[in-house]
Amino acid sequence: MQPQSITELTNHIAGDVVLPDSSSYDAVRNVFNRAGSPAAIVRAQTTDDVSTAIRFAREHQVALSVRSGGHGLSGLATNNGGLVIDLARFNGVEILDPARHLVRVGAGAHWGDVALALASHGLAISSGDTRQVGVGGLTLGGGIGWMVRKYGLTIDSLEAADLITADGRALHVSAQEHPDLFWAIRGGGGNFGVVTSFDFHAQPSGEIVGGTVIYDPADAENLLSAWAGSMREAPEELSSTFVLFSGFGPQAPAQIMVLLCYAGDDEAAANAAIKPFLQLGAVQKQDLQRKPYHAMLEDAVSPPPTLRVVGHDGFLKTLSAEAIATLATNYGQAGKPIAQIRALGGAVDRVSQEATAFAHRGNEALVIVPAFAPKDASDEQAQQIRQAAWQPLAPLANGAFLNFLSDASEASIAAVYPSATYARLAHIKATYDPDNIFNQNQNIKPAPTAQE
Ligand SMILES: Cc1cc2nc3c(=O)[nH]c(=O)nc-3n(C[C@H](O)[C@H](O)[C@H](O)COP(=O)(O)OP(=O)(O)OC[C@H]3O[C@@H](n4cnc5c(N)ncnc54)[C@H](O)[C@@H]3O)c2cc1C
Repeated sequence: MQPQSITELTNHIAGDVVLPDSSSYDAVRNVFNRAGSPAAIVRAQTTDDVSTAIRFAREHQVALSVRSGGHGLSGLATNNGGLVIDLARFNGVEILDPARHLVRVGAGAHWGDVALALASHGLAISSGDTRQVGVGGLTLGGGIGWMVRKYGLTIDSLEAADLITADGRALHVSAQEHPDLFWAIRGGGGNFGVVTSFDFHAQPSGEIVGGTVIYDPADAENLLSAWAGSMREAPEELSSTFVLFSGFGPQAPAQIMVLLCYAGDDEAAANAAIKPFLQLGAVQKQDLQRKPYHAMLEDAVSPPPTLRVVGHDGFLKTLSAEAIATLATNYGQAGKPIAQIRALGGAVDRVSQEATAFAHRGNEALVIVPAFAPKDASDEQAQQIRQAAWQPLAPLANGAFLNFLSDASEASIAAVYPSATYARLAHIKATYDPDNIFNQNQNIKPAPTAQE
């Protein structure tokens, strides 16, 4: 980019344009899982800023990254030599209709701040498990959070969104307005426009009962089997994650963690639902307690400075004996990868498979394997580490969940989007972003006619 064109951009932006020689550049150039050196970061203040930045990237044919919370594992919310639209200032939480619990949330807000702001209204949105994760990235991928079995995916609570398209137009999308686009942004990632805000139907949520139970890792297979059996009997109010944690050196030894969140005010019902999970095996420690929903979210733990996450994930139709044995044998012991198993079902499965671009309803569990590669590993080495960590599960799992993918390979994109879903997305992409301006993502290539 020429210096005079950057000056021209700066003159038309109400927010800030952070350049490599700006004192704030180092604070905003990188994201959670990747270091970047973009030519400019537009910290947008207005929707006009977003349109201007999109037009600028188009005109100058530079890579355009879009950032909400910067916690995307692919690291594509930064780049080298291109432009970044940073939505951190679009972080409002506004009650639109108290009777209908309709709330508008800025794409750049962090879920921890949203949970805190909604708590004062007795409301909550089932989002992720981490405070710093952004509303934009998590929602566009689907969103699997602490009340997933009770209220479904985050997109299942979405009523509308405001976005700026590739040609700079501001659209309000919902089931009534631009329904094709509304379908696509519920699972299709950042392919279709820059979303500036989301309108959610929030859930009434006073307090939850939740926390972590820690077990001896020696008995992994029996514990996982008992957990799967107990989850099959559990009410939908209870969501849970089973973690085969392989440890980080002597300070953080291998252990098994069962995280639980009961979404409901009835403490007796919560205790009854949780009781079987205190009897899965010998409990080493537990911190279950009644608390506000926002206190269930945890702070993100950054990878050690020398490493980056190269995770993969996939769904299990059922937690079969074979899947349980595979998980217990290959994960969670010193020197082996970590595996996180999230129970699904409940409200997730009451939404039809075609209703949104998230195409993996009807699975009992999501398994996430966050492996680690040296920060300076080549993309090829990182892929090898990722594949080796996932390999034992590959024959048993189906599909993939966009939100925990660290790569944007064709194979991963094909796992996220079955062919019919991809074809529908590609058709919508051709309508709204025919030149593929939004390509710094798990990319859907525009295809003018739907290919079934
Ligand atoms: C510690 C940690 C915990 C997590 N826990 C969960 C969890 O419990 N549940 C879950 O579902 N996911 C979880 N995730 C995954 C997370 O949802 C995704 O990584 C998500 O992309 C992060 O959103 P972000 O806005 O912070 O990311 P960003 O890096 O800002 O964005 C990621 C990508 O999304 C697109 N994008 C972002 N914002 C916009 C926008 N406004 N308009 C258009 N495109 C946009 C861009 O392509 C961008 O590259 C977790 C991730 C981490 C690192």
